[in-house]
Amino acid sequence: MRATLPLLLDTDFPPIRRRRLEALQVNLGYVCNQTCLHCHVNAGPTRTESMSGETVEHVLAYLAASGAATLDLTGGAPELNPHFRPLVARARAMGVKVIDRCNLTILEEPGQEDLAEFLAACQVEVVASLPCYTEELVDRQRGKGVYEKSVRGIRRLNELGYAREGSGLVLNLVYNPQGPSLPPAQAPLEADYKRILGETFGIAFNSLFTVANMPVQRFGSMLISKGQFNDYMQLLRGAHRDDNIAGVMCRTLVSVDWRGYVYDCDFNQMLGLPLRIAGKARPHLTDLVGRDVEGNSIVVRDHCYGCTAGQGSSCGGALG
Ligand code: SF4
Ligand code: SF4
Repeated sequence: MRATLPLLLDTDFPPIRRRRLEALQVNLGYVCNQTCLHCHVNAGPTRTESMSGETVEHVLAYLAASGAATLDLTGGAPELNPHFRPLVARARAMGVKVIDRCNLTILEEPGQEDLAEFLAACQVEVVASLPCYTEELVDRQRGKGVYEKSVRGIRRLNELGYAREGSGLVLNLVYNPQGPSLPPAQAPLEADYKRILGETFGIAFNSLFTVANMPVQRFGSMLISKGQFNDYMQLLRGAHRDDNIAGVMCRTLVSVDWRGYVYDCDFNQMLGLPLRIAGKARPHLTDLVGRDVEGNSIVVRDHCYGCTAGQGSSCGGALG
């Protein structure tokens, strides 16, 4: 894999500071049942990195100490971490909203047959990637058979009440472009997804989040190999909108890696750019307890234009 960080260091991205902490986004490890082309954590079945029980305790302690209202779980496939279910149950018992960034195919993996029921029982919000509503494109990006399994996964969640009015169970989908282009407008694409998935399969979801591909990890490396890295950066920079800066996700979340080290966002985590606080070279969750991150300066590099280009992009979709 080609390193993208050296190409992102020299930046004129505006300086930004943190607001009040709202969410803790925790990467439970890189083990995944899939190997998607655009995976920015390079996850897959052969990865072994997985958060330990001790670090999970640190997560719960920081959740309690910081008062963060949301725990956003990601991976890899976060559900494959053996501590996933106890962590979810305990966070919910604390009144914390839990988001599971679920790849849908995991619902059919051996040993995960009751996962959908568990998520529904704990009222976990499910956010799932479905980069297109056509089978061909989804399978090209995420692997053969992924589309069919994803449709079955959504149907299963719908049967349990997800995306059904009055159930309180939320299922959101994520779209990202196939190549080095910006995502289309979120609202009309959401309407197309709803119509096509509804008419073809009778399945439903709440919202569609359109996100830009970040020029890091597997996608960034692919751009370098194809000689498209500079053009893509130019596209992102040229489409930068200052009014998106107010909503970039790093202002309200802290990202935690599988060992408990902290970053301003998931992308900085993948680039190995730690959150800067109290003069620590590589702060850990345990260093944050008792420290207020509000007002802290955020570590920005050129990839940040991926969050502010066009309609903007965050883990909750477009910013505009
Ligand atoms: S499902 Fe998600 S974590 Fe797993 S390989 Fe695909 S993008 Fe990466
Ligand atoms: S890449 Fe991370 S640090 Fe940069 S603007 Fe986006 S969320 Fe913030």
